[in-house]
Amino acid sequence: MKITNVRACQPYCESSPPDWRTDLGQILIAVDTDAGLTGYGVGGGGFASIHVVQTVLRDMLLGLDPLEIETLWERMYRRTLAYGQKGLVLMAISGVDLALWDLKGRAESLPVSELLGGRRHERLPTYVTVWNDGQLREVAGRGHRGYKLHLEAMVGGESDQSSDAAAADFVDRVESRVAAARELLGHEVELMADAWMQWSLPTALSVAERLAPYHLSWLEEPLPIDDLAGYRELVDKSPLPIAGGEHEYTAAAFEHLASERLHEVLQPDVCWCGGLTQLVRIYEIGAEHGLRVCPHRGAELWSLHALAALDPQPLAESGRGWMTWVKGQPEMEGGEIAVPDSPGIGIHVDEDRLAVLPAPANHWTARAR
Ligand SMILES: [Mg+2]
Repeated sequence: MKITNVRACQPYCESSPPDWRTDLGQILIAVDTDAGLTGYGVGGGGFASIHVVQTVLRDMLLGLDPLEIETLWERMYRRTLAYGQKGLVLMAISGVDLALWDLKGRAESLPVSELLGGRRHERLPTYVTVWNDGQLREVAGRGHRGYKLHLEAMVGGESDQSSDAAAADFVDRVESRVAAARELLGHEVELMADAWMQWSLPTALSVAERLAPYHLSWLEEPLPIDDLAGYRELVDKSPLPIAGGEHEYTAAAFEHLASERLHEVLQPDVCWCGGLTQLVRIYEIGAEHGLRVCPHRGAELWSLHALAALDPQPLAESGRGWMTWVKGQPEMEGGEIAVPDSPGIGIHVDEDRLAVLPAPANHWTARAR
């Protein structure tokens, strides 16, 4: 089997949230073959990533065997090394890698979980991330194993502060949101908090100490992802486990986070970190270092197969329900989610009905003389 085309687009979705996910939105990748099979994957990075696929990765992949996934991943990574390594280029590679896994499953008539060694779990417990109190009240009591408060949305970022009094007020406000959530949910479920990279080390330490009595499973991305010295000190001193990795790329980078003990829970996003090929290695890294791996948006079918096959204590995070162009995504029922049985990842794409965003205009015009 040989690759005959690699296509990329940014599907239009009416309910996309008004943030960077729209500006540099989630992209769909299709890998076509001479066997008549097409594999689909999702990556990030919008038209910047589409450009990388169309101008670099596609030409490199044409004519190659799509089943040699590891070899193709290394070639894509090396070809883009000068300007890639992290960020948008890895988001593009992620989509291609997932499409290759989907293709392999379709070619072998096996769900991807079987390609990963077979399922340890048929149904997975889930947790839901909420952005406001109304959402939390809505999903509480639906049988989820856990709930995560997106504190950047619920309380604001630390940048709102201008004095010691404001900093103390910020910690108070965080505590009151977490206390209210614990009271609503009780102590039988897991509770987590996500700061989305917005705090300083002193604030993160103050919050972690204040929240210790609420028994959070983890405090997520309290510091900017590149403040590694900050994470080292925070992990040493925090009474709560520190989670991160949602905005990190490649298994090599996760190996550094794990071996240096910069995070205690690893949260790779399979559509961004380099795809399933990297997620498989990140699970190995977690096992070697005794760290929990809890993929970002793990209840989306892109990660589900890895959770089912590789995760000793799976906990699948709610996904992007607004990405309605992804068909085949299982629903959470009774707080659990089932893993698709169909060959490949389980995605169905009706290309005839897919609405695609037009490429951005080129605003360059020749200067008037
Ligand atoms: Mg997060």
